[in-house]
Amino acid sequence: MVDPSYTPIDEVQKIHASLQASFKSGKARDIKYRKHQLLQLAYLLKDNKDRFNEAAKQDLGRSYAENEILELYVSLEQIKYIFDNFEKWTKPESVELSIYFGARPRIRKEPKGVVLIFVPFNYPIMLLMSPLAGAIAAGNAACVKVSELLPATSSLLVELFPKYLDPSLYCVVNGDVAVSTKLLELPWDHILYTGSGRVGKIVAEAAAKHLTPITLELGGKCPTIVDPRVNLKVAAKRILWGRTSNAGQTCVAPDYVLIPKDGEEDFIAALKETYLEFYPKGTKEPGTIARLPNRGNFDRVKRLLDDTKGTVVLGGDTDRETKYVAPTIVRDVRFDDSLMSEEIFAPILPIVPVNDFDEAIEFINARDHPLALYIFTDDSKLKEKVFSNTRSGSCVCNEVVLQIPTPGLPFGGFGASGNGGYHTGKYSFDIFTHQRSTLTMPNWMEIALAARYPPFSDKKSRM
Ligand code: NAD
Repeated sequence: MVDPSYTPIDEVQKIHASLQASFKSGKARDIKYRKHQLLQLAYLLKDNKDRFNEAAKQDLGRSYAENEILELYVSLEQIKYIFDNFEKWTKPESVELSIYFGARPRIRKEPKGVVLIFVPFNYPIMLLMSPLAGAIAAGNAACVKVSELLPATSSLLVELFPKYLDPSLYCVVNGDVAVSTKLLELPWDHILYTGSGRVGKIVAEAAAKHLTPITLELGGKCPTIVDPRVNLKVAAKRILWGRTSNAGQTCVAPDYVLIPKDGEEDFIAALKETYLEFYPKGTKEPGTIARLPNRGNFDRVKRLLDDTKGTVVLGGDTDRETKYVAPTIVRDVRFDDSLMSEEIFAPILPIVPVNDFDEAIEFINARDHPLALYIFTDDSKLKEKVFSNTRSGSCVCNEVVLQIPTPGLPFGGFGASGNGGYHTGKYSFDIFTHQRSTLTMPNWMEIALAARYPPFSDKKSRM
């Protein structure tokens, strides 16, 4: 049976036309109006906190506490920061003194228009609220495509949006590939797509037909180099947290560890010790670790695990019925292993022994540029060597994942992991803003500008 919260396909074009008409009315440009809509966005989350927690539990088996930290708290902070600051971002910018000394060049901050935002399943609130707050603050109309893999969360968003936000300018569309395909046929003024690289290519191709500008926030495998001389206990805690929170379904989760051979044993011991501290009663009990969203994802992950030639030293349990995958550590994984063939997106951590750091760098550089690259070391020369000799969306030393909520840092991929950078504050605003150049020239400047007019003569030339 079709989910009743799905948007009928023949509605999609009407929604686009109606958003365009409302945007043209100019209502979304009013600063007071934008502030009110941003406040409403915050209330949508605050008033319905329990319902969102319950929906995340149903869709992803997430505990209330994890949902509040990973999604609701971060989203509210984002909205608040944008609410407090966006007015000054909308002011026209003067530029440095022009060669046309009498002119007044300015950059106006204009909304792009009617924008489309695609949201993936793994952080359905944070990855919706953060771009949408930027789009509203920048004065746009927006259509948000939520993930069909999350029936409870997506239907809740469909229900709440028109109750809190102005439906003539902001709407949610829910549905499967057919609905997404229909959306992509239309001429949006910007598309922000967060999701897999496979679908990212489909989006880019569709956008090219209308020359629509796009921001692609994609995934991939995030390498983590561990220097065995570092405090292995702290490294193990941070890496295991990054790999197991939201059941490893975080785009910037450490996907695999590269460690010199002589450090593998000690690092695994530190991971096992940390596991017992994090999960003294194991993880099978509902609420201890999130689940995968559907059987398709479960089967994909199970296949990767079944085919590995590495040795499982922790976890390894799975349950198709409940889409459960235990935190799992696999050692002695080789470069050509199944677990190294694609983004894992589950709480499985392959440990890949290397001869030295140069081999680790070479391996990383031979693959797609990752969204994030991590190095755990206290050796500043090694850190600099890794940062300077690799390319990735972000690079982080002795920490994981926290580059995303750090205020002031743009977040985005590079090459196969995407383009652009948003997520925090002004960067979310800028993505949806057209920097429009303006120039006003006074008549008296004719004295200085007369040389440009024909007829030309050698005498006129000043070069
Ligand atoms: P997905 O690509 O399957 O789906 C994302 C969106 O695309 C959904 O709204 C879906 O309905 C739509 N979609 C799916 N198939 C489509 C098609 N054929 N045509 C048009 N639209 C289609 O991604 P997902 O499984 O929901 O999310 C996981 C991926 O997203 C991972 O690769 C992860 O790394 C990545 N991700 C990236 C970031 C980032 O900020 N860079 C953040 C979160 C997730």
